[in-house]
Amino acid sequence: MSDLYHKVSNSPVGRSVVSALNLPAPVVLERHNRPNAPFLEGEVLVSAAPGGKAIETICSVLGASTASLFALDQKTLVPAGEMKSKTKISPLKADAIDAKRRFKALVFDATGITTTEDLKAVYEFFHPVIRNVGKCGRVVIIGTEPSACATPAMAASQKALEGFIRSVAKETGKKGVTAQVIYATPGSENQIESPLRFFLSPRSAYVSGQAISVSKAAKPKSALDWNAPLNGKVALVTGASRGIGEAIAKTLARDGAHVVCLDVPQAKEALESVATSIGGNTLALDITEPNAPEVISSYFKEKFGGLDIVVHNAGITRDKTLGRMPDHFWDLLIDINLSSEERINDALFANEVFNKNARIVCVSSISGIAGNVGQSNYAASKSGVIGYVESLSKQLKGGITINAVAPGFIETQMTAAIPFMIREAGRRMNSLNQGGQPEDVAEAIAFFSSPASQGVNGNVLRVCGQSLIGK
Ligand code: NAP
Repeated sequence: MSDLYHKVSNSPVGRSVVSALNLPAPVVLERHNRPNAPFLEGEVLVSAAPGGKAIETICSVLGASTASLFALDQKTLVPAGEMKSKTKISPLKADAIDAKRRFKALVFDATGITTTEDLKAVYEFFHPVIRNVGKCGRVVIIGTEPSACATPAMAASQKALEGFIRSVAKETGKKGVTAQVIYATPGSENQIESPLRFFLSPRSAYVSGQAISVSKAAKPKSALDWNAPLNGKVALVTGASRGIGEAIAKTLARDGAHVVCLDVPQAKEALESVATSIGGNTLALDITEPNAPEVISSYFKEKFGGLDIVVHNAGITRDKTLGRMPDHFWDLLIDINLSSEERINDALFANEVFNKNARIVCVSSISGIAGNVGQSNYAASKSGVIGYVESLSKQLKGGITINAVAPGFIETQMTAAIPFMIREAGRRMNSLNQGGQPEDVAEAIAFFSSPASQGVNGNVLRVCGQSLIGK
């Protein structure tokens, strides 16, 4: 679906009208649309509070990019000379930075912060340079997971990073800039590579103001091809005939996976067209059919000997305020959006279909976080998805992970059906002043699906341009 206001406001005439009327002017977000493009280009400023435990990994990740690296030369921050990187890191004095200079990214290691007084280092790094972050720039802080901090003072100072980053995201979003925090449990700092690359790259164009946690995990045995991380993997995507599901199928295939596209039998034609375009297979099946879990299990066991990635994307809305909601609206929606996912996973586990290090990714919604008028059934199902992910993540073995994405307003057939005024509000009420594309959700799912995301488990990542509703 197209956003006419976005197009007009980015045309030469429209831009001057929008500016004269002081209306929001959503920028054209940079997305990953050049095959094999480097994940990060331009000038990047990196720094750490003393005692930072993630700086070594940060330097190694940044060193693998084509970016030029600089460290802020401030008394309270770790000097450039103490950062080990394959790429040279040049010291830069804050007062020598011209107002016109533009950084592509600011990256800060805050894991050394243990008291609330230490938080001043965050201010000292970001304050002089935040206005120098360029269009579609990136701000990322690495911290220590607050619930794993040794003292309440440390937990307070680490949790403070979340409020800080959400505010930075709101202040800079109109330029298309995004800001996130990656929390590592102590000893898992080497697991930040996958989320750090994702958050710094154009793949996370519509993700902002988010906190993600990583924990200890085994590193992949062989080096990863970052342009085809899913080579050799077999994936199942439900609801793949259109919208977000179609984008997920195409993105996982782009990253090297063999994708099986599932949708209802009525969508067979569209489903075949998606599968053919990516060299995948189709499974025309209603996931609420009583035998669906067994059909899916046998299919993967017999045809592929197992399954590496399942994306539970199929979902519906049946909106009505609670007092007017017929019970079949409730029953059908909960069955499709929630219960069938559980039944399918149960069968895949019981029949030992999941391969080692398999990935389960569920699709929730910001409606499940904030609630919505007329969506008590939908919001319940999408909150339920979050509860399911958080609980199951603690029980998984064999390197299997489960995470969820929670999309905000995404331009699809589902949102095209929303009445005009509500649709316009949904589109604009976020820090980036625009709706997301199905590909934005797909990129987040590809990130969770990557073998490099072994330490990423039990997370719910909003893909909503930092929607004003919810957390
Ligand atoms: P969509 O365009 O309606 O696509 C969903 C697909 O799932 C449709 O092809 C649908 O088929 C299929 N499906 C429904 N019930 C099924 C069943 N029982 N068995 C197999 N397939 C079934 O929706 P979308 O906008 O791409 O959304 C995809 C997911 O993202 C959903 O879980 C949705 O709740 C979530 N989400 C979307 C947004 C958004 O802004 N679009 C925001 C937050 C979350 P039918 O033709 O039969 O419906």
